[in-house]
Amino acid sequence: MKKIVPFTKEKIEEISKEFPTPFHLYDEKGLRENARKFTKAFGKLEGFKEFFAVKATPNPYLMKILKEEGFGMDCSSLAELELSEKIGVVGEEIMFSSNDTPAEDYQKAKELGAIINLDDISHIEFLEKHAGLPELICLRYNPGPARAGNRFIGDPKEAKYGFTKEQLFEGYRICKEKGVKRFGLHTMVVSNELDNNAFVETAVMLFEIAVELKEKLGIQLEFVNLGGGIGIPAKPEDTAVDYEFVAQGVLDAYEKFIVSNDLAPMKIFLECGRVITGPYGYLVSTVKHMKHIYKDYVGLDSCMANLMRPGMYGSYHHITVLGKEDAALDHTYDVTGSLCENNDKFAIDRKLPAVEVGDFLVIHDAGAHGHSMGFNYNGKLRSAEILLREDGSFVEIRRAEKLADYFATLDFDRLEKFG
Ligand SMILES: *Cc1c(COP(=O)(O)O)cnc(C)c1O
Repeated sequence: MKKIVPFTKEKIEEISKEFPTPFHLYDEKGLRENARKFTKAFGKLEGFKEFFAVKATPNPYLMKILKEEGFGMDCSSLAELELSEKIGVVGEEIMFSSNDTPAEDYQKAKELGAIINLDDISHIEFLEKHAGLPELICLRYNPGPARAGNRFIGDPKEAKYGFTKEQLFEGYRICKEKGVKRFGLHTMVVSNELDNNAFVETAVMLFEIAVELKEKLGIQLEFVNLGGGIGIPAKPEDTAVDYEFVAQGVLDAYEKFIVSNDLAPMKIFLECGRVITGPYGYLVSTVKHMKHIYKDYVGLDSCMANLMRPGMYGSYHHITVLGKEDAALDHTYDVTGSLCENNDKFAIDRKLPAVEVGDFLVIHDAGAHGHSMGFNYNGKLRSAEILLREDGSFVEIRRAEKLADYFATLDFDRLEKFG
């Protein structure tokens, strides 16, 4: 898929006069169009609901847009629950999928009436003790050796998440005994996956468990949550996941396992994050320095603190040099930030047109785990987030951090008297 940006150099010049680079820029039109395509495809499934994985882009303005598009919120922490509450998404519009969970997070989830997805068998008692058991409980399944996982999330038996199969059945039995009335089943076995079939396989795996649960424990699941994990076609040669294909595959499996075993209706949920916002966010930077030593370096005004995925995972992020979209890619550069870390590179040996100081570089697919994974190492400040509206106007949806924010947790008065 050709990687293009949905804005011009002139638009970025206009925005950067008001909000200097670097900033994260989100494309509302693309975001909404994709959300509608997603809903159109998966909306065929029984009781379908997408719970947006808030951790990908925890910005309440974007969450509000996704709420308007009919999405619930998948939260994993107290802060994410509070963000969800602030945009008016509460009750069973929230899926709470956490792990190693603090008691206060469970208390908040319970207070909001969220669907609580337990990560471990010991959490049944923990939740009961700290918040009380709700009437609806979801359990997270880790298939271990039964599934291969993928290269991003790793081998399920090495993953810290979820119940083993044996614990899963025991967990439902205990919950039922303790008076839980409604049940859901969850898993998350792939991440950033582009293989359509992986998602259908996950559905089949959960449907088989639904059948077994009915047979062994007389439990009729109200829903299965297939997790997230739909990947982004980051490279020009990648192919996007075909939502229609996946939805049809899940629908066929639903007929085969759920309808034929008299388990319908059973709702189907997804909790994708990355694919919902990732492709519709861009990190916009200005070239500050060109450096020519053993290699040629492009030095940006942003750094790994604005987008750590390349440094942390070696992920590919496409780069467009604004105004040079059609120029020949006849130069090879490492594109770097200013951290005192040699892995602070957005791209290594990347073919680009000739780059000059002052050029705007746009890093693609930065809309998920971009700003949200930001950090302050080297005293670097998190950048602003700007939303490009459908009418071409723009609005700041999070201001840039200031040095005062960085120093806010230090008590300089005490320091003066110290020592
Ligand atoms: C991160 C996460 C998701 C979302 O994954 P994406 O790859 O962003 O789709 C969904 N569910 C759980 C439990 C997660 O941890």
